[in-house]
Amino acid sequence: QAKASGRGTCKRIEPGMDAHLKARQEMKVSLRHALKNRALELHYQPLINLHTGRITSCEALVRWKHPEKGPVSPAEFIPIAEETGLIGPLGEWILRQACTEAAKWPSQVSVAVNLSPLQFRNRRLASVIRDILSETGLEASRLQLEITESVFLNDSASNLLILQQIRQLGAKIAMDDFGTGYSSLSYLRSFRFDKIKVDRSFIADLPTGRESLAIIRAVAGIGRTLGITTTVEGVETQTQLDAINAEGFDEAQGYLFARPVPASQILEIVQSSRE
Ligand code: C2E
Ligand code: MG
Ligand code: MG
Ligand code: MG
Repeated sequence: QAKASGRGTCKRIEPGMDAHLKARQEMKVSLRHALKNRALELHYQPLINLHTGRITSCEALVRWKHPEKGPVSPAEFIPIAEETGLIGPLGEWILRQACTEAAKWPSQVSVAVNLSPLQFRNRRLASVIRDILSETGLEASRLQLEITESVFLNDSASNLLILQQIRQLGAKIAMDDFGTGYSSLSYLRSFRFDKIKVDRSFIADLPTGRESLAIIRAVAGIGRTLGITTTVEGVETQTQLDAINAEGFDEAQGYLFARPVPASQILEIVQSSRE
């Protein structure tokens, strides 16, 4: 179809494209401004150990309140940060902020930070993380990095090397959104993850969804066999939790337990859950 349209027309401009590009461009400018002016904030959502009922860690989730638009979802602005190269400084800010907060928590509670695959373009990512750990005084074993399968799509050899360097620091590596990529299972062979976090889409239709149930059962089995911690995200109901418990998952996260909350609130939560 592209060929038929003839020479010199490699890209068709769709109606409304202009407005779309302009909106993105504006987002990029205000995002850069937000990062510079500390208009971004991290919220934290607990992960619960299903064997003990205790909080094992809290995931840092970035929040942006746009001056005119109000709250913008990270699912919307992280891709813009990735496209514009802003993810480098943004990702570093997120790491530093999360480690600073986590250093105040009881020592058995870890922090989980999402890493964009584009942050691996920085070949010195592991040493950036090492510096942030020593700056903030957070023990490396209390930092978990959540990555998605897309880390293995491009530059997989050098990204693997960086992952190994991060692991050598003593930090933990989790595979996030497991099951949504193209070949989740093969990545389990490329790298020994500390944790598998099954994507929310496999939890949403439990306990009736037979396919989802079969898949999470298989993942729980893989985790048990390989000694990898198994987690699920997006648990919203007690019946979903019952199904997950029946499969022997180690951890769970979701609105049923807690929503993401600001730093000051999570501090209270982790402190009061210590006893
Ligand atoms: P994710 O890492 O898979 O994070 C889980 C998302 O599910 C979060 O959305 C969280 O608020 C939401 N969630 C948690 N429990 C439930 C539940 O029970 N039900 C439902 N419906 N949703 C639940 P959020 O904060 O909007 O983040 C969306 C995505 O944006 C994240 O998915 C992650 O990919 C990305 N993201 C968020 N913060 C960061 C960050 O600091 N750095 C990077 N690189 N990406 C981030
Ligand atoms: Mg995550
Ligand atoms: Mg996730
Ligand atoms: Mg997800």
